[in-house]
Amino acid sequence: MAKRKRNRDWIQDYFFLFIPSPLPDELLSSWLTRMAFEHKRTLPLFFSLFIRHDGSSTTRTDLDFLFDEKLFKTLSQKSELSIKEIYQMSLRTEEGQLFTCNDSLYPPLQIRKLTDKRNHNGLMYCPKCLKEDKIPYFRKKWRYDFYNACPKHGILLTDRCWRCYSKIELSKIKHQKELCICYNCEKDLRENITIAISSNYSYGLKAVKWFEKGLSRGYFLINKQKIKSVFVFDSFTYFRFLLKRKDIPILDGFPLLEEYKEICKKLKRYNSKKALSIKKEFILTSMVYFLFQNYPKNLKLFSINNNLTHREFTHGFKNLSFWYKELINEIIPMENKLGREISEEEVKNAIKYLESNGEVVNQKNVAAVVGCHFTIHKGYVKIYHSLHDRHVKIKDD
Ligand SMILES: [Zn+2]
Ligand SMILES: [Zn+2]
Repeated sequence: MAKRKRNRDWIQDYFFLFIPSPLPDELLSSWLTRMAFEHKRTLPLFFSLFIRHDGSSTTRTDLDFLFDEKLFKTLSQKSELSIKEIYQMSLRTEEGQLFTCNDSLYPPLQIRKLTDKRNHNGLMYCPKCLKEDKIPYFRKKWRYDFYNACPKHGILLTDRCWRCYSKIELSKIKHQKELCICYNCEKDLRENITIAISSNYSYGLKAVKWFEKGLSRGYFLINKQKIKSVFVFDSFTYFRFLLKRKDIPILDGFPLLEEYKEICKKLKRYNSKKALSIKKEFILTSMVYFLFQNYPKNLKLFSINNNLTHREFTHGFKNLSFWYKELINEIIPMENKLGREISEEEVKNAIKYLESNGEVVNQKNVAAVVGCHFTIHKGYVKIYHSLHDRHVKIKDD
């Protein structure tokens, strides 16, 4: 017992011996790993020796999203950097710009999770950026969901070592060389083959740049109006969800639709989905960008052509901003679910018309007279059933 106590005191007293300066847009985990290497330690060991006893359990969590004021304070004290400088490396600084307040341990949809069983991309990177770095390091923007490609180098980000297919996990690095060396097989990640983006994909790069600009200045210009970036990024997640749910959405004028179809087809066929899913995500980002362009025409056509109702744009999404609700109310009228509003009077008249012509009165025939779909138009279905029920009751009497 006594020994353990002494150890704890020893940890608390110890200052860091080498303190690398944080690089522009550097992730906290990247800076900490670089510092661990300076101390000739792996990240978990460095944590346990210098920061806290449960070091390895902390490094197993998502350090970049962890909100731990005590940890920030300790890091600041031991590194002599200000708390602000430490906090700046955490993804939490994007709260209010990229995502709304989130008290959960896991990042919101705007930020890629480090372990995602579905698409595997955890920590992603641009091999060419790493190659240009004097000191290779990992950027915060590489974890943003919209950031699938590097606009500077015109290539898709990648999420693994292409020799051994291991994903990128800074806390697993034992070699203590540089961050850009695979922890598993020690291949230099800078040497990875890069997936160049062909010229027809330039639309997607434009999308990434647009979102990046909006995030950095805190607002987007939509229809000549300044819109808070967080509203746009929240809507981004709803639109992406709606787009992804459609097998192939109908998007007239979207320049990458053929490519998208091709990728979706291949994804169904092949087992190796690694690079393809990144490409798919990249096109999805540009689809959302497309919806915000030519405002409100593209968004309106998207809802009409894909039979998306007002409810689908709003139901089940958390924390809808007032701006988003207004936008949807304006573009997709509440009752105008498929084409137009239908009144009870209209349905009654259609029934009368069928009866007077001696035709069968059923849901399908009445809809044909009214001029709407007999099962999809929810307003019609409701009116028809209520009339039908009343009618049956009258008959029974
Ligand atoms: Zn790059
Ligand atoms: Zn490897």
